[in-house]
Amino acid sequence: MSMSNIRGTIKEVPKDFGQTKASIEDIANISTKTERVLYPLSAIVGQEKMLRALILNAINPPIGGVLIRGQKGTAKSTAVRGLAEILPEIEVITGCKFNCNPAEPKKYCWECREKQKNGTLKVEKRPTKVVDLPVGATEDRVVGSLDIEKAVKEGVQAFEPGILADANRGILYVDEINLLDDFVVDALLDAAAMNVNTVEREGVSVSHPSNFIIVGSMNPEEGELRPQLLDRIALQVEVVGIPDIEQRIEIIERGNRFNDNPLQFRRDFENEQEKLRLKIVKANQLLSRVTTTRENLRTIAEICIAFNVDGHRADIMIERTARTNAAYEGRERITNDDIIEAAEMVLPHRMRKKPFEEEDFSAEQLRAVVDGTV
Ligand SMILES: [Zn+2]
Repeated sequence: MSMSNIRGTIKEVPKDFGQTKASIEDIANISTKTERVLYPLSAIVGQEKMLRALILNAINPPIGGVLIRGQKGTAKSTAVRGLAEILPEIEVITGCKFNCNPAEPKKYCWECREKQKNGTLKVEKRPTKVVDLPVGATEDRVVGSLDIEKAVKEGVQAFEPGILADANRGILYVDEINLLDDFVVDALLDAAAMNVNTVEREGVSVSHPSNFIIVGSMNPEEGELRPQLLDRIALQVEVVGIPDIEQRIEIIERGNRFNDNPLQFRRDFENEQEKLRLKIVKANQLLSRVTTTRENLRTIAEICIAFNVDGHRADIMIERTARTNAAYEGRERITNDDIIEAAEMVLPHRMRKKPFEEEDFSAEQLRAVVDGTV
């Protein structure tokens, strides 16, 4: 396969590549202007829960995001960036800064409406984007900027779209999400509540669609996340260093191979990547045929009562996640294992402290509730 056929964002590898002793995370982040050499998702050793949570969101975006908690060096960023390569393709209007959906003319931005009038609207397919929101980004960079003088003369054309425009219909990745400035958190919450980003300056207001999946990663040692934002993110997974010796050796060896020759390393994993992409496409197609029985719903409700969750969002999220997990496993029926796996990701940040303390929360407890022994 020629390099140009590899999906993703490979272009050039810097000439001095391999001479530095960089970590996998550093290498994956080396960029040539805007392009990155990505470490393949399927080459990540272990961390099954994190990968599962990301993949389930790729199959069924309405699940509503993932928060990945863990120490540095646990492949968090590598996994999220790698996700970009296995996400399904979407249809967009060519050249649109807001990624307008051709199937939803009512939600077109002003530019697409203009193009529609002129008959110059073109449609293209491209992979779903993963857009970075760096900690420390300015407000203008996040929500977009509005030049007031220009706005008076030219109207909405004076709006320069920001990250929230770029992330529309994609994944918004926030590394160190717990360290975001309050104004960015507020902008994220506003956009997440309405699926619209609104910028107001001196009485001039501009709005555009901003419907994204939040994927956040954080090191809890550096501070907690604001509860309002935590509540907005559907799933939570904890990543820790792997205790298995063989797996740790494999991590070092793969890191070295990627370091020495990243393009060859990517070629070595292209088959695995293709298998994963196919599995996601199949799961996405199967999803609408997966049925949730009344018995499944009863089990979910029992779990949510036993674990004393706030409100009813947890029930809905567990059902959605379990159904997606069944599709990923190639089944049209939801099993108790699907429900337990989903609850493990939905519940940790939604339980009131009693009767279960967060640190006691485990799959075994979930299973005990499902089996009726609690
Ligand atoms: Zn548009």
